[in-house]
Amino acid sequence: MKAIILDAAQSLRLADVPDPDPREGEVIVRIEATGICGADRLAYLGKDDRRPVPLVLGHEAAGVATGGRFSGQRVVINPLIFCGTCEFCQAGQTNLCLYRENVSIPPRQGAFAEQVQVPERNLILVPDEVSTQQASLIEPLACGWHVARLCRRAFPRGRTALVIGGGAIGLSAALGLKAQGVTETVMAVSNPTRRAFLRDHCDQDMAPQDLGLAQFDIIIDAVGSVASRQMASAHVRPGGIIGHIGLDDVTGGFDMRRLTLHEVTIIGTYTYSAMDFEQTADAAFDGRLGPLDWFEVRPLEDAPQAFVDLEAGHVAPPRIILTP
Ligand SMILES: [Zn+2]
Ligand SMILES: [Zn+2]
Repeated sequence: MKAIILDAAQSLRLADVPDPDPREGEVIVRIEATGICGADRLAYLGKDDRRPVPLVLGHEAAGVATGGRFSGQRVVINPLIFCGTCEFCQAGQTNLCLYRENVSIPPRQGAFAEQVQVPERNLILVPDEVSTQQASLIEPLACGWHVARLCRRAFPRGRTALVIGGGAIGLSAALGLKAQGVTETVMAVSNPTRRAFLRDHCDQDMAPQDLGLAQFDIIIDAVGSVASRQMASAHVRPGGIIGHIGLDDVTGGFDMRRLTLHEVTIIGTYTYSAMDFEQTADAAFDGRLGPLDWFEVRPLEDAPQAFVDLEAGHVAPPRIILTP
């Protein structure tokens, strides 16, 4: 089958690779849409040691199941594969599974390809009124849903929120917070092209460029850079929550003195549980996460140029979706 291979930092090419070889309980999905994630971009830049080259990237995928109980039907893939029996899985934290595997992290290849193999239980049926391209947004939306849920659980009275970062995860976090009742949510987005798109097309409220003395009950850092952690440290209210999901810089930026003196809770969050993924799909499919229209579509073979455009900051919508 055809796939896009990352064979060195910033080097992607279309190649012929072996077809998937499903294990017990797995099915092959014929891919129709795969989004380009921030994690794919980190790997592309050679900054993700979990994804050594050569590798097929891509995990935000939807397509048509070619076997099992959904055979011939359109499905969205939960790309996080869990054992179901370890102590974390038993507690519902399937994202922390001791035997976790991810689509696009070795030994598993990714979904910038014509086909991918996944356990049948990782598939969710896509309703007729939702396109396969829209369904591929469930994965980033689930990341946002999860961080919003953990912040809400830590601070149920929280009413105001700032989301730092205007990628799909930032937008998904804002949509998740609003759907879960934190209606006073604003976004801080530095790229002017992206900021205009989120404001005018996605109906999101933008924080002023200068936040002044503003403070927020909940801050979600969907960038994870030194600068974004400095912003979160400065603008979280006493007793507030920082949900940290971005992965840009490994260290630096937190003002631990202020966070200590003001009893701020910092929550590191990673992906979503299987329950989050299902709840997100339900919410997205019945319209609670707004119109699923914040992407542009490009053919799979144009992936190299898409990555170049993303690094240049030239892409207005939060997602580029590749179609084989
Ligand atoms: Zn993703
Ligand atoms: Zn497990």
